[in-house]
This record gives sequence, structure tokens and C-alpha cells, in this order.
Amino acid sequence: MKKVAFYTLGCKLNYSETSTISRKFEEKGYQKVEFTDQPDIFIINTCSVTENADKKCRKIVREARGISPNAYVAIIGCYAQLKPKEISEIPGVDAVLGAAEKFRLAELLDGFVRPEQPVVFATEIDSVDTFNSSYSLLDRTRTFLKVQDGCDYSCSFCTIPLARGSSRSDSIVNLLKHAQDIAAKGVKEIVLTGVNTGDFGLQQGERKERFINLVEALDAVEGIERFRISSIEPNLLTDEIIDFVAQSNRFVPHFHIPLQSGSNEILKLMRRRYQRELYTDRVKR
Ligand code: SF4
Repeated sequence: MKKVAFYTLGCKLNYSETSTISRKFEEKGYQKVEFTDQPDIFIINTCSVTENADKKCRKIVREARGISPNAYVAIIGCYAQLKPKEISEIPGVDAVLGAAEKFRLAELLDGFVRPEQPVVFATEIDSVDTFNSSYSLLDRTRTFLKVQDGCDYSCSFCTIPLARGSSRSDSIVNLLKHAQDIAAKGVKEIVLTGVNTGDFGLQQGERKERFINLVEALDAVEGIERFRISSIEPNLLTDEIIDFVAQSNRFVPHFHIPLQSGSNEILKLMRRRYQRELYTDRVKR
């Protein structure tokens, strides 16, 4: 039985996706082991937000090679989508998979025979529009459930739309099923996670559902004690959402609202979709 180890950099979304990909490997008969446990395959899930993405990636590849010199090393994640060629040139890398391909890793690299030259599977991000369901199952306390992916905003400082593509979501029906499965595993808390979580509801470019409807539907799932919304843009945090959460027994009264700047001039330059007055108003409410 081949041994596979995972290393995750970055945000909760990456953790939920690594967790889902690792379950796929286990279903296919691979054994999941610790990074230091002489794996046959290393999967490194990268992030592009940190300034030292490149350095970090190189360091982990070097460590992996030190642990298992002949193992297969595959790089996935946001940095892999943004800079596939650069990553494939890092010594010791065997494969690079982009945003659309990472969920088909076990199929695309079937057998995991090290190639002579690194292989790259990365479709242009403009054509990435499928939603892959994911949730983490790292412990029994809480799970990160991906409800939405990608972003259609174009904040001037952010590369995420280039790494994760346009805004798209899971359906409420699917998410209810995931929440029930998670409850059946004994997990107590679900954190709703996305790139632009409040923009939930777009499927293939069409608005099919709304975030408030998801919140209302999840609130009725038996077995989950707490729901938390990981982060929501101030312009998408409506009165409806605040009022619902305020009276809910399951949704905890907790909002993480990114401010980015208190200066309207800077917010405009950042191309954020709110001004400080709106932010203040949301907090007061
Ligand atoms: S809303 Fe968030 S993810 Fe979207 S472009 Fe702005 S900072 Fe990036």
C-alpha cells in the first residue's frame, strides 16, 4: 500500500480541500501518513497570498526530498495555478496541478511513477467554473465546510480571482447533505467557508440561491451545535443575515468583517465595494 502525506499552506479553504483530497486517496486504497513518515507521495497544497510563497514551497519540497529521496512530489493550490511553470522548475518537483485539476489528482497521476521531466496540468483560470465540494475532518470539534469558491470582485491588491477563478457555489441541497453527514460523524461545529462567502448562490454564472437561504436551511440541521460564518464582506452582510443570526440558537453571534482600511480614499483605490460609513453602520447594527 502506497503511503501519501499532505502539507497545507494558507487558508481554511485550502485545509478543507486537502482534507477532501486526502479522503479520496484513502478511498482508493492509499495510506495517509505524517509528512515525516517516509511517504511514497507528497502532496503540497500551496498559497499565493504570502509574500514568500516561492521560498516556502521550495523549502517544503527540499524537506520532502530529504525525508523520502525517491518519493513523488506534487504541488497543488493557488500558487500552483498562478505560477505553474516556475514551480515545475523547482528541483525535486514531479507534478504541478492547477485549480481545476487538483481534485482529479489521484486519477491524473495514477500510479505515481516519477516522470523524467515534471508534468504540469493547469487549465487557464478563465475556464475553471466547476465547484468541487469540500470539508475538513481533521478533528471532531469543528469542520470547515466550503460553500463557495472564487471571486468576481477585483480588489486591486488581490490575486485570488486569478488563482481560484470566478465566483461559484455549492447548492443548498448538497450542503444540507454534507452538514448531515458531518453531524453523523459527531462533529459539533461547522464553519461556513468561501473566498467571498456572502456571494454564495452563483452557479455557472447565474444567481440561483442566496446566502440567507443557506443560513436559514442549515439552522434546522439536527446534531450540529454551532455554525459560524468564517468571513463576510461588509457590503454583503445584510440586515436579514444579522437579524437571523441574532435570534438563532445555532449560528453563533460572531462576524468576521474585513475592513482593509478606514480611509475612503484608500478603500476606493483598493476597489473595495463599501465606504467606512457602511462598515460603521454594519457594526452598529
Ligand atoms: S473580495 Fe476578497 S477575494 Fe475577492 S478580490 Fe477582494 S480581497 Fe480578493
